[in-house]
Amino acid sequence: MNAPDADFIIIGSGPAGVSAAFPLIAAGRRVLMLDAGDDLGLQEENRSVRVLGSDLESLRVDDGSSPKLQTPVSRGILERFQRDAGISGNGFKPIGSLARGGLSNIWGAQISYLDAGDIADWPIDLASLQNSYERVAQRIGISTNADLTTGADGEAVLPLGATAAHVLRRHKAAKPADGSFRLFAAVNAILSEARPGRAACDLRGDCLYGCPSGAIYNSRHDLLLLRKSPHFCLLDNRRAVSLTRDLGWTVKTADGSSFSAPRIILAAGVLGTAALLTDLLPIGQQGLRLLNSPTLAIPLLSPARLLRSMTPTHSLAQLGLSLRYGDGASDYVTGAIYEVGSLPVQSFVNRMPLGRKAGRAAFELIAGSLLVATIYYPGDQSRSYIHRDATAKKGLTVRGGFTDGFEIRAEALKKALRREWKRLGLIQLPGASLAEPGIDAHFAGTLPMGETGPFGSSSDGELNLHPGLHVVDGSILPDLSSKYITMTIMANADRIAHRLAALEAPAAQ
Ligand SMILES: Cc1cc2nc3c(=O)[nH]c(=O)nc-3n(C[C@H](O)[C@H](O)[C@H](O)COP(=O)(O)OP(=O)(O)OC[C@H]3O[C@@H](n4cnc5c(N)ncnc54)[C@H](O)[C@@H]3O)c2cc1C
Ligand code: SF4
Repeated sequence: MNAPDADFIIIGSGPAGVSAAFPLIAAGRRVLMLDAGDDLGLQEENRSVRVLGSDLESLRVDDGSSPKLQTPVSRGILERFQRDAGISGNGFKPIGSLARGGLSNIWGAQISYLDAGDIADWPIDLASLQNSYERVAQRIGISTNADLTTGADGEAVLPLGATAAHVLRRHKAAKPADGSFRLFAAVNAILSEARPGRAACDLRGDCLYGCPSGAIYNSRHDLLLLRKSPHFCLLDNRRAVSLTRDLGWTVKTADGSSFSAPRIILAAGVLGTAALLTDLLPIGQQGLRLLNSPTLAIPLLSPARLLRSMTPTHSLAQLGLSLRYGDGASDYVTGAIYEVGSLPVQSFVNRMPLGRKAGRAAFELIAGSLLVATIYYPGDQSRSYIHRDATAKKGLTVRGGFTDGFEIRAEALKKALRREWKRLGLIQLPGASLAEPGIDAHFAGTLPMGETGPFGSSSDGELNLHPGLHVVDGSILPDLSSKYITMTIMANADRIAHRLAALEAPAAQ
């Protein structure tokens, strides 16, 4: 190894990478962060560019995926990943990013916390994760939606939309048809009060196209803070292409540079990390098991809110829900309910069994009473594998699928949910759909912590086969509950970085 460029090299500037960087620099460690993206996209853009795209890419044909994935920013991020990351999909949409800030540029910002049951098989205790949850929550800013007509109890709140508030009131008034059904105000990484460099949410509901005021957390915000530290250096446009070990580790980047450190921390996202490790893991015929969350989208109508106007709020998740479908600890789905009025009319019209003109007229009439629920299953309901690409010399293909009997379970769940919708005064509209695997962007489990064998890693995310190579993104989560995953990825990265910071004395400056 050449003279080390840093004590730690972190690859990736998404939520995982920045969460690992803070504890290390606080302990005086020199951190070099390499990212495939750059600063572009941070400039103030006017609304029409954010909505339509600088090349009018929004006017391209709707490909049936979530409206969130069709905005100009999303298309730019996902298309670059699909072009340059060396990962293709077969029955699977490989969602990933090679952009500064990673997928936090386009995420939905909904927050969930795992509990003791969710991590029963992990080699860590809940208390250590909880400390990290608290630190991360303080850093990124969290708010809960609240029905302000019923008053708030001192926590950071943003107003629930009127239709969502109506549904929540109905839920509180009548017992669920299924005793395990829970409906609650969503918790999101959105600021209700301004912080340096970030404004509070202005409730204009433009969130689909990116949040120009910085109210929605994006790990780019953290980079501004990190860059103030003399111990931190971020290098843009450095796409890592290979990792080699000598006395320490050396990373080669696509522009021909190389950087060395005793320890490397991979935070390239589950698919990005797998791509980087292709030559270092014995991926055989069977492939590398990838956990993802099968996802259902269900359009709903609240007749009581027909012809009523919408009230100001953000357009991220308004309500959260969960429902059990089996007796196993992880046999429950988690979901979110969104008000639809602020989504592009076209994405609704395309999903309705109506003509274009009739669909548009219907949308305008009922927009304020429309909701959409997205439902996530746990990762054990997926059957997805990462394979070496037989046709390319270097490259991976993800084959997506569902576990046996999944469709029967999904039908039973839809039936159970229909009873809850009825109780809540909601009508399920035609057009409920199961998303192509991958669209969920909830990935985990390729390099599980605590697993022995060539694909396992330690509780510090250090790969069994490669000492000094640590992973802090979703790859190392041993299983994938149906809950939103990013808060846990960040907390686990924070937890690991605290442990790494304590391992050895800082290098002499
Ligand atoms: C539309 C959408 C909505 C979502 N909504 C939610 C939600 O509501 N709640 C939730 O919990 N999660 C949500 N997610 C998931 C969430 O975005 C991810 O879990 C999270 O971004 C993962 O963080 P990460 O840092 O591990 O990876 P990423 O965010 O993917 O970041 C990876 C980083 O690594 C860099 N990188 C990759 N490869 C290389 C390389 N070879 N060399 C150098 N750099 C590299 C990239 O440039 C990027 O900076 C959503 C995702 C999408 C797409
Ligand atoms: S409404 Fe959405 S886009 Fe506007 S400030 Fe709030 S979170 Fe950001």
